[in-house]
Amino acid sequence: MKMPRKLTIANLPTNIEHLKRLSSELGNVAIYLKRDDQTGTEVSGNKIRKLEFAIAEAIDNGYDTLITCGAVQSNHARATAAAAAKIGLKCHLILRGSSEDVFEGNYFLDGLFGASIDIVDSEEFKNIDKLLKAKQDELESKGRKGYVLPIGASNGIGGFGYFYAMNEILEQEKTLGIHFDAIVTTVGSAGTFAGLLYANTLVKNDAVVYGINISADREYFAGETKKIIAEMNEYTGENISLSYDEISIIDGYAGRGYGLSTKEEIDFIKYIASLEGVALDPVYTGKAFYGLYNEIKKGNLSNHKNILFIHTGGIFGWKAEQRDIIKNF
Ligand SMILES: *Cc1c(COP(=O)(O)O)cnc(C)c1O
Repeated sequence: MKMPRKLTIANLPTNIEHLKRLSSELGNVAIYLKRDDQTGTEVSGNKIRKLEFAIAEAIDNGYDTLITCGAVQSNHARATAAAAAKIGLKCHLILRGSSEDVFEGNYFLDGLFGASIDIVDSEEFKNIDKLLKAKQDELESKGRKGYVLPIGASNGIGGFGYFYAMNEILEQEKTLGIHFDAIVTTVGSAGTFAGLLYANTLVKNDAVVYGINISADREYFAGETKKIIAEMNEYTGENISLSYDEISIIDGYAGRGYGLSTKEEIDFIKYIASLEGVALDPVYTGKAFYGLYNEIKKGNLSNHKNILFIHTGGIFGWKAEQRDIIKNF
């Protein structure tokens, strides 16, 4: 099988931790956490794994600028800005937001890493493909070369970040002497989920890879997953193809929608933080881990003994309205 080249930016392999107190509270199940929130400081989170492959492709094809997009507090945009600075490339971000957004968290870090930033409103952001292309054309007219990464770096090349992570997990199983029968991740643009699923299918591992979507719905993300898997086939020369039933996305935990929290979600994040000393984030991992917890409580995952949840990061994404929910100590 052909495998694209990757850079070495992230701190890998990331640790796997046993959440002992949570596991004993749930009973009959062992919950483990893969600390992909610790892939680095500036580049922390899951996006750097995808960027290691995407940026290698950009460099190998002579690009000098990374162009990407996301919400104003996008972890992917911040990781791209940080990685660009580490590698010596330029970075341009098109972020969905407004003039009212506080210059904090990921947005602040984007500026700190020297990315140039266009803020556009949600109406304009509907034409994001055109906006990205226009930026690329503008750079070209100045003799530069812009490499466009889609939202979340979730495409064929980005998928290899979690193909690589799946192989890392299989290696760690040997050293730890544990076999994970379920691997669970958040689905935000499906690249992480698709990459894990691709590798899991290719090596015929018997674990079930579950995704828990934090926006949109199962149908939408099953389609995105299929698209990414098809693009990965173009690189590997393999012919992995999955039916809708083989794509295990658990729906029902998007709550109030992307970037919006409920009190139950924030209370749950505080529960885990005080029980285990682990900080989840309100946009992604807090919702998905809350989903996993509820599915276990309902008995829907009772056929699994060792469950590995990927902590994909997001610590910089906390905003005042979410922080304020837990302020009354
Ligand atoms: C982007 C992101 C996700 C979702 O990953 P996708 O590959 O986009 O599905 C999960 N957690 C965090 C913290 C993220 O930033």
